[in-house]
Amino acid sequence: MKVDVLVVGAGFSGAVVAERLAASGLRVLVIDKRPHVGGNAYDTRDAHGVLIHPYGPHIFHTNSTRIAHYLSRFTDWRRYEHRVLASVDGKLVPIPINIDTVNRLYGLNVDETTIRDYFDSVREPREAIRTSEDVVINAVGRDLYEKFFRGYTRKQWGLDPSQLSASVAARIPARTDRDDRYFTDAFQNMPLNGYTAMFENMLDDSNIQVEVGLDYFAMRSSLHAAHTVYTGPIDAYFDYCFGRLPYRSLRFEHEHLADMTQYQPVGTVNYPNDYEYTRITEFRHLTGERTPGTSIVREYPQAEGDPYYPVPRPENEALFKRYEDLARRESGVTFVGRLAQYRYYNMDQCVGAALKAAEYVLAGMGETMADGDEKVQPRVRSSLAAGVSLPAVAASPLDTTQRS
Ligand code: FAD
Ligand code: UDP
Repeated sequence: MKVDVLVVGAGFSGAVVAERLAASGLRVLVIDKRPHVGGNAYDTRDAHGVLIHPYGPHIFHTNSTRIAHYLSRFTDWRRYEHRVLASVDGKLVPIPINIDTVNRLYGLNVDETTIRDYFDSVREPREAIRTSEDVVINAVGRDLYEKFFRGYTRKQWGLDPSQLSASVAARIPARTDRDDRYFTDAFQNMPLNGYTAMFENMLDDSNIQVEVGLDYFAMRSSLHAAHTVYTGPIDAYFDYCFGRLPYRSLRFEHEHLADMTQYQPVGTVNYPNDYEYTRITEFRHLTGERTPGTSIVREYPQAEGDPYYPVPRPENEALFKRYEDLARRESGVTFVGRLAQYRYYNMDQCVGAALKAAEYVLAGMGETMADGDEKVQPRVRSSLAAGVSLPAVAASPLDTTQRS
């Protein structure tokens, strides 16, 4: 197949761009160095027939109707609201911290009318909220910070919360009600037949060719396309010329418990202060499957290994900016996704960024930005090669990126 656009990476970012471009008549080659599509959201059946997430638990949630509508073309959904308990002082209590967390932990009896007073009595107001430590101590004080956040964060990132940007801990709010859901987004659903099936539907287009097990850097000189969409780590693309951007990795320990139908009461239990792993997730809660045994995964954070998390802190952002400057000047390449934009994106934010990136590639606008969803600030310029004219195809009538 003669190829118009090469997409590096078959995760959310790459698959969405590929689908949009193919729907507009461009011929797209998608490659991934892993042996499957789906990126980190890939799911598959383990040796016992249980649907699991090999790269850790993925729960879909979004406030964007545009993104929910777009993905609904490729999957039906199963309603699922994720709940997480934290194992603290020998008890399993809700996280995000809510009224019940406080009451169960301290033997109190606060309610909706008094929880704010309680937080006011324990919080340590900070004038400037710069770090993740500031966020939590300012909201709920030192004791809750130490019980729920300090140990977990040190394990997860290998850094103290005082060394991480505020945005990391700000993902987890303190609640003044009894809502024990992990997310409050309007749309919380899992793909009915799994993520991989959804990706296969997305990529099922005669204009798309998918090649897995292919590393872009091993093939770079032999792959020819008018435009490239790159979703891998941005520092790797530029051969680490300014040094390596830190990405946090994980080791996943999967286990099947044949004699048990349920291991824990909710999808995930967090262990902020015990063990080397941060959390255990039991897949049957996420998928709704009722198999005879049950499968769980423990997550052990580590520095080396596949890049899973960009590490949000000012010095890393500064290094990223240097790579971003190179990306702006790179002809014929659009950088998009969690690794290429070095952003702690959730799946829906990757979809939002990819929809925008596809629009710009289609419009042939070399000097426009591949922003994410409305809420997402970070941006990387997509650049088109000088002299290369991509067909200026109008967005197809099916293109929900036009609606919002
Ligand atoms: P990726 O999924 O990383 O895809 C990039 C792809 O590029 C990879 O498949 C990689 O193999 C390929 N690639 C890289 N370099 C090359 C190369 N040189 N040649 C060829 N291919 C290459 N988000 C949520 O919304 N909800 C959750 O519950 C959630 N849980 C998560 C849990 C964990 C443990 C992790 C790590 C992330 C979680 N996320 C979650 C975030 C989610 O995984 C990402 O937002 C999303 O999957 C990123 O998609 P992407 O396409 O940008 O990147
Ligand atoms: N966090 C914590 N304790 C918890 C849950 C989260 O300290 O019980 C902090 C930790 O720094 C974590 C961050 O909040 O990395 C974001 O949590 P989230 O569950 O969103 O992480 P992810 O699912 O992306 O790994």
